[in-house]
Amino acid sequence: MHYSFFSLLQNALTGHRGWTPTWRDAEPKGAYDVIIIGAGGHGLATAYYLAKEHGIRNVAVLEKGWLGSGNIGRNTTIIRSNYLLPGNIVFYEWSMKLWERLEQDFNYNAMVSQRGVLNLYHSDGQRDVYARRGNAMRLHGVDADLLDRDQVRAMLPFLNFDDARFPIHGGLLQKRGGTARHDAVAWGYARGASDRGVDIVQNCEVTGFVIENGRITGVETTRGKILAKKVGLSVAGNSSRVAALAGMRLPIESHVIQAFVSEGVKPLIPNVITFGAGHFYISQSDKGGLVFGGDLDGYKSYAQRGNLPTVRDVCEGGVALMPMIGRVRILRNWGGIMDMSADGSPIIDKTPVEGLYLNAGWNYGGFKAVPAAGWCFAHLNARDEPHSAAAAFRLDRFARGAVLDEKGQGPQPNLH
Ligand SMILES: Cc1cc2nc3c(=O)[nH]c(=O)nc-3n(C[C@H](O)[C@H](O)[C@H](O)COP(=O)(O)OP(=O)(O)OC[C@H]3O[C@@H](n4cnc5c(N)ncnc54)[C@H](O)[C@@H]3O)c2cc1C
Repeated sequence: MHYSFFSLLQNALTGHRGWTPTWRDAEPKGAYDVIIIGAGGHGLATAYYLAKEHGIRNVAVLEKGWLGSGNIGRNTTIIRSNYLLPGNIVFYEWSMKLWERLEQDFNYNAMVSQRGVLNLYHSDGQRDVYARRGNAMRLHGVDADLLDRDQVRAMLPFLNFDDARFPIHGGLLQKRGGTARHDAVAWGYARGASDRGVDIVQNCEVTGFVIENGRITGVETTRGKILAKKVGLSVAGNSSRVAALAGMRLPIESHVIQAFVSEGVKPLIPNVITFGAGHFYISQSDKGGLVFGGDLDGYKSYAQRGNLPTVRDVCEGGVALMPMIGRVRILRNWGGIMDMSADGSPIIDKTPVEGLYLNAGWNYGGFKAVPAAGWCFAHLNARDEPHSAAAAFRLDRFARGAVLDEKGQGPQPNLH
């Protein structure tokens, strides 16, 4: 079913009885050309682009829970391409370009909103670091504006500019950055893939791999063995656990990160703001809730929930940045599992097992990557060679010492 003004009108006039399910909840077949493990944003986008761009439609996406139960339905929805290193900028800018035409492409309202992402700086040294980042972005054709204090004050007069410890000196703005509705992104890709024949199979956990003479021939699941010529691993926070089933030890640790939503308030925050002197960032959803988050919980875990010390830390950051937020009540908070790579950059690559491909290491930034990661992972699966935009995301870069240390924190996942 194609969504349009006319389909809306037609259904409005016929009691809304003509709408069909957004995507097909499939039963698994015995064999596929390609199996993608994980129905998160990355897995669904990969299946969509495999079918749409490469004509590979005999594909299954296997999900251990329900579609969207992982990080795709848990993130704080920020999209941006304000990266520093050449290996990352090209990829994230490609993702941003895909976001800009995504809704028309998959005919679904993902509420992509380019409301701007502003990173605040609080010292001369931090301004220089942001100026460098902005220049690197501009050299790659990405928009970036370095704002001074007065320009930021004109945009966001309610911020605590004269805080004694963290006075705001200015900010780096990416106007094309913003937010998108995370679950609609999953539904839109699921719909586009399902329409093209992809089977999306829920409640189907992959429990093992069938490997013969170094080549993948299928997977073991809670719903039986399923054969496949190729298998793509896209399980985010569970990457190290699932890869271990194929005998691989990944340079990834899983950490918890939390998100928070306040009660709905009138329009207050026009864009995405990140505090540069602590771990806090915030935007406002179209329903009025303030959506915010902060640092990792700081310990390794596979539990999708966080702890109170981090709740306190995040709220402290919020109150330092905009004291009036102290009067807003938190409605809910939750946690998700981050696949923290050793250098803070992702992996889209082949593995030592022939026919088994890996998409992992997205840290807490993989939502904005969904379109490009799906595009590049589909390309790798279909053509057996990396896409040029993801050329730097090799698995062996850790062994070669050629890391992509975007944040400059070195090989400590908990600091990224
Ligand atoms: C609180 C929070 C805030 C975030 N904020 C942002 C943000 O603002 N911007 C941004 O860019 N990124 C953000 N992220 C990160 C982003 O959400 C993730 O990097 C991204 O969603 C990961 O890719 P995914 O969507 O494919 O993961 P997921 O949705 O987690 O998909 C992986 C799927 O694999 C399934 N799976 C696992 N094991 C198996 C198995 N054995 N068999 C079958 N299926 C399996 C899981 O159930 C899951 O559904 C945030 C994350 C969190 C938790």
